[in-house]
Amino acid sequence: MNLIFLGCPGSGKGTQAKFLVSNNGFHHISTGDLFREEISRNSELGRKVKSYIDAGRLVPDDVVLDVIKNKIKDIKGNILFDGFPRTIEQAEGLEKMMDEISKNIDVVLFFNVNEEDVVKRITARRNCPKCGKIYNMITNPPKNDETCDECKVKLNHRDDDKEEVVKKRMQVYKDLTSPLISYYRTQGIFEIIDASKSVEDVYKEIIDKISKYSK
Ligand code: AMP
Repeated sequence: MNLIFLGCPGSGKGTQAKFLVSNNGFHHISTGDLFREEISRNSELGRKVKSYIDAGRLVPDDVVLDVIKNKIKDIKGNILFDGFPRTIEQAEGLEKMMDEISKNIDVVLFFNVNEEDVVKRITARRNCPKCGKIYNMITNPPKNDETCDECKVKLNHRDDDKEEVVKKRMQVYKDLTSPLISYYRTQGIFEIIDASKSVEDVYKEIIDKISKYSK
């Protein structure tokens, strides 16, 4: 089964993706994570995408689609796309690429949240640079101030999670990504998740919704 997590920045997609990877064996493809890794390695791709990410803008579709094409060709099991596609062009490109390797998208889960709450939620977000665990200083804080519970290292605050960039990212989401809601709704593979609930309840709802589509 192949899934897409669709939702605005900070809607909890990354947190839930980690559960589906460890509990349900999905291969996680997060274009945001991928780009951040490339930036930290200072690779050619990393240098190409950095200015877009720092400004809260989308990386051009052709660059994103090239990255995805390379990633999906060798994956055998179930894929979870997180933060991709983000434009209609990317969705069409994905469909073509999946077709070429005889795969398809089974379900698109839309993480529904109140967008005003989300700006607060993102600016409070921190992640562990070692294990990748995501915390929220308001709703899901670590036991000790800004330190990972598992790794005991200082948590990181993404530059693009700072308020001005977050506002820009939300605008980009509204303009370019939200049209994907009606795009997938008309394909009959669209499910709405109430992402304002607790992390555990959102996970339960995801499992419940995707179980209807398992073959
Ligand atoms: P994320 O961690 O998914 O919020 O992504 C962080 C940033 O990476 C975004 O604000 C974009 O600049 C860039 N990015 C991630 N995924 C995509 C995508 N599918 N298309 C274009 N840009 C992306």
